[in-house]
Amino acid sequence: MLPADLLPRLRAIRGDLLPCRGCLGPVGEGAQAGLCARCWEGLRPLQEGRCPRCALTHAEEACPEAVAWERGDALWDYHGGRPPLGALLVPGIKRGETGWRTALLGRLAQAPLPEWALEADCVTAAPSALPRRLLRGFDLAAEAGRVVAGRIERPFAPLLAKDWRSGRQASRTESARRRLPRTAIGLRRGARPGGIVLLVDDVWTTGTTLLRCAQALKEGGAEEVRVLALFRAL
Ligand SMILES: [Zn+2]
Ligand SMILES: [Zn+2]
Repeated sequence: MLPADLLPRLRAIRGDLLPCRGCLGPVGEGAQAGLCARCWEGLRPLQEGRCPRCALTHAEEACPEAVAWERGDALWDYHGGRPPLGALLVPGIKRGETGWRTALLGRLAQAPLPEWALEADCVTAAPSALPRRLLRGFDLAAEAGRVVAGRIERPFAPLLAKDWRSGRQASRTESARRRLPRTAIGLRRGARPGGIVLLVDDVWTTGTTLLRCAQALKEGGAEEVRVLALFRAL
């Protein structure tokens, strides 16, 4: 077996000789973290005219999604690009791809934020289950939350905790996700949410995790919850 860091080391020396890790084409100019400029263009904004709460486009005037927040949006389409860049980056980052992590957080530091995000009083992140966080050693939602907090010059506060017994959201079926019990996410001990809380997550799929987060924040005293995800996956 090759040592795990051999490819990253080779890339650091002569990355231009290796193919793009996304499309397997030549990396060329503008490449970053082993991905060519064309692959990075996969970080695409969501469709115009989307709902200001669920970030989807729907015909109904009133939002048909179950939401417990006032505003909601995501920066990029999870399935944007070919290959879909979000679907490539996020699982990679969770496996420990530090180059992709740095590159993605760097893009987050530059991305246009919705105007309403600037009105938040504090920033928090959707929690990941503790054992999983310890295993991979990197919590993308929390790191994204810290970057956003820095940009809007408000404190980042880890207010929420996930009950680890509720299991891995990503490995569950659609119907199991929608049933995520109300007690699966709660406030951390001593957490006192107040004012407008900006809730940051990495990938917003069905929104059940965000719903439980927002409910816990509101029950704990937040006046308003606004949701900002890196990626929208539906
Ligand atoms: Zn590429
Ligand atoms: Zn909606």
